[in-house]
Formats: sequence, C-alpha cells, structure tokens
Amino acid sequence: MRLVLLGPPGAGKGTQATRLASRYGLTHVSTGDIFRTNVAQGTELGREAERYMDAGELVPDEVVVRMVRETLEGIDGGFLLDGFPRTVGQAEALEAALSEAGRPLTAVLAFDLDDEVALRRLAGRRTCERCGAVFHVEFDPPEGEGVCDVCGGPLAQRSDDAEETVRRRIAVFHETGDPLRGWYEERGLVHAIDADATPDEVFARAEAVLDAPAKAAR
Ligand code: AMP
Repeated sequence: MRLVLLGPPGAGKGTQATRLASRYGLTHVSTGDIFRTNVAQGTELGREAERYMDAGELVPDEVVVRMVRETLEGIDGGFLLDGFPRTVGQAEALEAALSEAGRPLTAVLAFDLDDEVALRRLAGRRTCERCGAVFHVEFDPPEGEGVCDVCGGPLAQRSDDAEETVRRRIAVFHETGDPLRGWYEERGLVHAIDADATPDEVFARAEAVLDAPAKAAR
C-alpha cells in the first residue's frame, strides 16, 4: 500500500500516520520530522529549511523533492507520506518518480478540519523532546505538567506552533493544499475523512477506507 495523507496542520496527520504505518506495515515518511531532525543536528539541509519553517512558509519544492526521492529509493515495501506533497509541483514530481518505479499511489486520505479547531489544537500541543510523544494541554494533558508520561522527558512547544506561525501555516495550507487536493481528486484517489473526532474515531474511519475490498487487494 502506498499512501499520501493530506490535511491542515493540526488535523492529526502525524498521529494517524504512526498508527496506520504500524497497522499496515508501512514505512512512515514525515518530511516535517526529517527537517526537524536535520535542524536539531545542524546539517546543511537543516540550516536551509529552518528559516522557512520558523516563518510558517514552505521549504522550496526542489529541496523537498530531492530529499523525498532519496528517501523513497531506500524503501522496498509500502509507505505512507505525511506532510508531502504539499504543492501540485511536488505531486507532479512524486507521480513521475513513482510511475518510473512502477509503484503508483494506492490512495490519498484527506483529513478535513475546521481552521479554528486546528488553531486550538496546535496552540496547546506539546511534544516530548526525548521520545517525540505528543500531548495537549487541554485535550490530552500529561499526568505531570511539562513531563512526558511515556519516558519522563521534558515537553516543549514546537517553535512553529506559536500562534502567528500557526495562522500562516494554515493560510499556506489553503493556498497550496486546496489546489493539490483538487489535483488528486481529478485522479480519483481522494478519500475524505472528517478529522474532528477523537484519535481512535479518526483511526477507525481511515481503517474503514483502507480495508474496503478494492484497497485491501493491493
Ligand atoms: P509539518 O511537521 O508537516 O507540519 O512540517 C513542518 C514544516 O516543515 C512546514 O511548515 C514546512 O516549513 C516544512 N515542510 C514539511 N514538509 C514540507 C513539504 N512537503 N514542502 C515544503 N515544506 C515542508
């Protein structure tokens, strides 16, 4: 199975991607996570990406596409792309790479969420600096304030979850993400999932789409 997850920041793509990857045995590729690792390690790619990320803007297509092509070359089985593509240009590059390799996409899951709900979710999001577990100060608070329930590591706000940056990220999502979704709709690949529900409910909706006989056969 080869999947793309679309949706605004805050729709829960990362959470669902982790669960879907484990349920279906897929390699989870998150371009945001790859950039954040590179920023933390101070690589050249990280230095290039950081200024765009902190402004809530997209990293230029050529940089992202090169990085994803290299990542996909190292993956044999199924995969799930989380945070890529984000523009029609990236989708075209992905389509070309996958058709060259004879591995077209199976489905695109579009997680729908109202902008104001997305904003509230992101403003309260806290991530463990050690293990990456995600909490929410209001909707999913950790037992001890600022401390990860999983590994005891310190919780922090992602630098691009500051309110101004989040507003810009949501605006960018509509500018480039709405046409992108239309592009995939024209190809008959999109399955819309209402993401305004608990993680378990959203996961069950995604499973229902993927377990439909036509998809399970691939
Ligand atoms: P995410 O974790 O998916 O919300 O990504 C965080 C940030 O990384 C985004 O706001 C962008 O600056 C950058 N980024 C991640 N994926 C892409 C992409 N496919 N194209 C351009 N920029 C990206």
